[in-house]
Amino acid sequence: MSETRVRFAPSPTGKVHIGNIRAAIYNWLFARHTGGKFLLRVEDTDLERSTPEAIAVLIECMKWLGLDWDEEVFYQTKNVKRHMECVEQLLASGRAYKMEKTSRDGKTGVVTMFRMPKEGVIEFDDIVKGHMAKKAEDIQDFAIVRSDGSPIFHIANVVDDIDQRVTHIIRGDDHVENTFKHIEIFRALGAPVPRYAHLSMIVNQQGKPYSKRDGAAFVGEFREEGYLPEALFNYLLLLGWNPGDEREVLARDEMVGLFELSKVHVTAAKFDLKKLQWMNGEYIKKIPAAEFVSEVKACAAGIASPVPGHDDAWWSYLASQLQPRTKFMKDIPQMVRCFVADDYPFDEKAVEKRLGKPGVKELLLDIAERFSKAAEWKAPALEAVVKELSQGNGMGPWVHPIRVAVSGRGEGIGLFEMLELLGRETTLSRIRRAAETMCQ
Ligand code: GLU
Repeated sequence: MSETRVRFAPSPTGKVHIGNIRAAIYNWLFARHTGGKFLLRVEDTDLERSTPEAIAVLIECMKWLGLDWDEEVFYQTKNVKRHMECVEQLLASGRAYKMEKTSRDGKTGVVTMFRMPKEGVIEFDDIVKGHMAKKAEDIQDFAIVRSDGSPIFHIANVVDDIDQRVTHIIRGDDHVENTFKHIEIFRALGAPVPRYAHLSMIVNQQGKPYSKRDGAAFVGEFREEGYLPEALFNYLLLLGWNPGDEREVLARDEMVGLFELSKVHVTAAKFDLKKLQWMNGEYIKKIPAAEFVSEVKACAAGIASPVPGHDDAWWSYLASQLQPRTKFMKDIPQMVRCFVADDYPFDEKAVEKRLGKPGVKELLLDIAERFSKAAEWKAPALEAVVKELSQGNGMGPWVHPIRVAVSGRGEGIGLFEMLELLGRETTLSRIRRAAETMCQ
């Protein structure tokens, strides 16, 4: 059998929609799984939208996600001569004809039309959707060359697929109607018809096509929001496919090994932001500890200069506490701030709720006094102090105000680990400062 050749054929607009990139992911996995070729074709015939910048955005997105392609990038605009040769062939064989058309602005011009058969059924076995059929008579003749002489999508797309020797076309199911037309063009040009796999749309919670009104919809936005490429890749793969068991977080080579186009779901995939966020956290947990420490140090350097001196063990401890709680890499600076600077911001709501009540001032001054006598400044020893005070009634009344006092926030890493990292002097002065200046 000849080698499998698939392509991703986007029309660059400067933004890459997640639905499109998911098609790229499926094409890529199919090619890698079958040992075939994954080609990149830039359908850049819309000169106003397909600017060099828009093409650069597309390439950057592909690289960011690790979607490496084989062979040279194929630019549709460079193949116009071949498109027109094929149009000539269709005109010569009678499958195309010229027709005068008046456009909406009243101008008359000559377009080239493709002639559809007037009887019979056009059918194909879609790898995802199954058998598809449509009466030829239900599809009208359609234009393939504009009056200005430029080839239209249908002819350009098919001729490029012929020239790139594409064996499988994996694309969104918004193209199903086009496929009936395209099959006729392949046949009219005497070319083999590729296999098709039409992917269902990504939809929002209401079941409507997922669009920018529903939130981030373009790859660049997810990148800016701090998603890791591996997490976005893994999540988009699961939107319409799974390995047939409970596994969700998959390494790239596992994905390649397991991916089956025939197992892609027929029903539309609901975009679930919560699940993507969870996935991102899972990938953050996988970052090697040393790398995460460097990230934390880099964030610290961006906050404080000079960064307070600490030994490696201290940085590793801090990073190990932060890593499992980090949902987005961009959140690290705000999580790190109170550990390296005294001017951390106070969350107003947390202050009101935890420091504003009567009695908190006394409670904080009392605990500072007790902590100051702790023999050892370690999390378990500090926890023991509070535990004893609470007499089994829960440590909440102490834990929450102390946390807000020393970090300004209502959440974060475990309180006693936080205090250990801050050290005795800083902890005590912060608790006392909050008691004097922020409590009743
Ligand atoms: N440029 C078209 C699109 O982005 C190509 C579709 C295809 O054949 O894959 O929708």
